[in-house]
Amino acid sequence: MPNLTADSHAAPISAPYDVLIVGGGAAGITIAAMLRGKISGSIAIIEPAETHAYQPGWTLVGAGVFSLRQTVKKEASLIPKGVEWIKQAAASFEPDAHCVVLADGRRIPYRYLVVCPGLQLDWSKIEGLSETLGRNGVCSNYRGDLAAYTWECIKSFQRGTMIFTQPPMPIKCPGAPQKIAYLAADHLRKTGKRAATEIKFCTALDALFGVAFFVPALKSAMQDHQIAVQYKSVLKKIDGPAKKAIFAVTGADGSVSDMVLDFDMIHVTPPQSAPDFLKGSPIANQAGFVEVDQASMQHVTYKNIFGLGDAASTPNSKTAAAVRQQAPVVVRNLIAAMKAEQGRAAYDGYGSCPLTTGYGKIVLAEFSYGGKITPSFPLDPRKPRLSAWLLKTKFLPYLYWSMMLKGSEFDIGHKEREFADAA
Ligand SMILES: Cc1cc2nc3c(=O)[nH]c(=O)nc-3n(C[C@H](O)[C@H](O)[C@H](O)COP(=O)(O)OP(=O)(O)OC[C@H]3O[C@@H](n4cnc5c(N)ncnc54)[C@H](O)[C@@H]3O)c2cc1C
Repeated sequence: MPNLTADSHAAPISAPYDVLIVGGGAAGITIAAMLRGKISGSIAIIEPAETHAYQPGWTLVGAGVFSLRQTVKKEASLIPKGVEWIKQAAASFEPDAHCVVLADGRRIPYRYLVVCPGLQLDWSKIEGLSETLGRNGVCSNYRGDLAAYTWECIKSFQRGTMIFTQPPMPIKCPGAPQKIAYLAADHLRKTGKRAATEIKFCTALDALFGVAFFVPALKSAMQDHQIAVQYKSVLKKIDGPAKKAIFAVTGADGSVSDMVLDFDMIHVTPPQSAPDFLKGSPIANQAGFVEVDQASMQHVTYKNIFGLGDAASTPNSKTAAAVRQQAPVVVRNLIAAMKAEQGRAAYDGYGSCPLTTGYGKIVLAEFSYGGKITPSFPLDPRKPRLSAWLLKTKFLPYLYWSMMLKGSEFDIGHKEREFADAA
């Protein structure tokens, strides 16, 4: 196995890793675990963080269903045996030299590279936000500690205005900004405080969801909870102490004007983008994402590079559910490439978004490329169900920690199904 203890800042260190993985999140650990069971060569993960989070659980942390502790584990406990952990941030890519350069200047050589550093949260793109996060009723489920603060805010809320925001795409789990709005409304209803509260959902988009099939069900959830939806509104500034949020709103005629809203609590979903070190690198597309073929997950130019997860250029919904389907494809095609064969495994664009329309109720949206409706179960997925809630709160965390991150390819098996128009 390559020796990384040697101090080497310019030249690559000893022999290349057979597979080098950038990012030890949902995708990186899954790939490492799957590969470890299949190849005997050297594998390393570049990952600077000490902890690893089950981010889909943060919606439930924000709603008081999970504790933050239930969603976090030490990274060290998840690195598969026989896989080396390079505890550093990657800083740049040298694909022609088959090297990744670390933040400390070391150059790590590889034969095959898997790139999966996730999405970057651009908090600073909203003026005044960083200064007030976690205070003044300004919360966000997009960071674990702030998700815990979301629940503090909801639980102690008495009366006034709650705002939930959604920025322009791309974001991870595009349903998450509205999931917490439904849960907050439901909690206030259950505790008798709903009548004293106005709730607004301000989204940069012009629809509640990217897959039209699910939109009527979500519109009706918004109506049932009496949440006012403001489309095409982008949060641009926040004054925490004054409790004011300023949005840029695009009107029907295309004109943009400011809208100032007072709030008592605001749940902010931050703008997101490809990580800075990836943007503008030789392996990124114009938007900054790893430029891979949307079926094979193989880089379009560098055939010894694969990408998956939130940092990949594929036009799927950025979810852990997508990672679960992409990982076996990457592993098969990477092993084929190692044998100088053409991999045939193909990702179909599957993603899943369990939309918590209330406590005990989930619209389980599952879909693939082209907006195909591809549920795992033969039930109308537009209907909020307790069974889907149990899946999200009980089974999916187990599937993540104990199966997916251990390299199991267990799959419930989604497939395209037709449904009559909504009643
Ligand atoms: C509030 C919320 C709710 C969500 N709900 C759902 C849901 O219900 N269902 C669902 O399927 N998905 C959901 N998701 C999305 C899901 O968590 C992500 O899609 C998934 O984690 C993506 O995996 P990834 O490995 O690409 O990125 P991540 O899991 O984010 O991992 C990226 C890793 O790369 C590391 N990294 C970053 N920069 C560098 C660098 N320079 N060098 C090396 N490593 C680096 C990071 O430290 C991190 O460990 C949700 C996410 C959030 C935030």
